[in-house]
Parts: sequence; C-alpha cells; structure tokens
Amino acid sequence: MRFLSRLSEILKWILDLFNRKPRFVIPHPEEPQNEDATSDNTDMATTREGWFLAWDVPIEHRLFWTTDVTIELSGQQSGTYIQPKIINLNFKQANPGVLAHEAAHVSYGLLSDLEKVAFEDAFIEAISVDGIVKYLYNLPERWYMSTISGGFHIEGHADVYRFLGGMMPAELKRFYPRL
Ligand SMILES: [Zn+2]
Repeated sequence: MRFLSRLSEILKWILDLFNRKPRFVIPHPEEPQNEDATSDNTDMATTREGWFLAWDVPIEHRLFWTTDVTIELSGQQSGTYIQPKIINLNFKQANPGVLAHEAAHVSYGLLSDLEKVAFEDAFIEAISVDGIVKYLYNLPERWYMSTISGGFHIEGHADVYRFLGGMMPAELKRFYPRL
C-alpha cells in the first residue's frame, strides 16, 4: 500500500514534468502607478535616465531621445504624438516602462510603410510560435495586444519593446530604429 502510494506520487511527478508549460520571465514587468506623484516630486530627466539604463538604449541614440524627442510630464493621459515626436507622460505614470512604451511609438513612426507591413507579418508570426512573444500576448492583462482591431500591432510593437526590451526575438529587432 505504502509502495503504491509512493508509486502514484512518482507517476504524478513525472506527469507534471511533462505537462509543465515553458515559463518565461518578463524582463521589464509593469510598474505600479505612483499615486503620490505631482509636478513637484516627479522629474522627466530621472525617468528618461532610468529608461536609458534599464533598457540599455544604445549610447549613440541617446542624443536623439534627448534633443529630437520632446518628453513632457503633465496631469493628462499618457500618449505620443508620433510625427512631431512629442511624448506626454502623466505624472503618476512617469516611470521608465511607460516611457519605453511611448518611445516605441516614436520608433514605429520612423519605419517606412513597407517596413510597417513587414513588422505586422513578423509580429503575427512571433505570436503564433512558441516563445516569449506568444507568452506575453496570452497574458490576460495584455488585453490590448490580443484585440484584433485597427492598430493592435502598433500597441503590440510598443509592448514587445516595453516588456521585453533587448530580450525580444532577434527577427523583430530591426523594426525598432533608435532603440
Ligand atoms: Zn500605446
């Protein structure tokens, strides 16, 4: 009896081993909003520096993000005006991760129309094969990445960079100019 229960434990353990799904670690998990943030205690340069370091933004492109792109903090909703390259961050969301997401939108705006189409194909391919992009895409909280609506791949483009940074699949890296 004792032997049998031990045997069933071992069998269960072996089955678990086979059923185990690959586990991925998101290199840049979502930061909580800072509810106490105001214009007095939040500063854009610190947020930008934090993003440069944590996402390892290439040194040769940091001047672009400092001088060609305007990053502002305000009480309004975070968002990006792609063409004039203006990023607005809400004070509460002035963290490197949200900035990384918005910066990816500026980077997307630097792609040609052909490259945008090529990205969409590469992105759909990436979320259909096993790997970290598929894992990210299937997380329940990434609802906007899984919404097949106009521009879903643009948000996907931003989130792949925001959550994976340099750990994104090699075949997607060419779609992130200046990053
Ligand atoms: Zn976005």
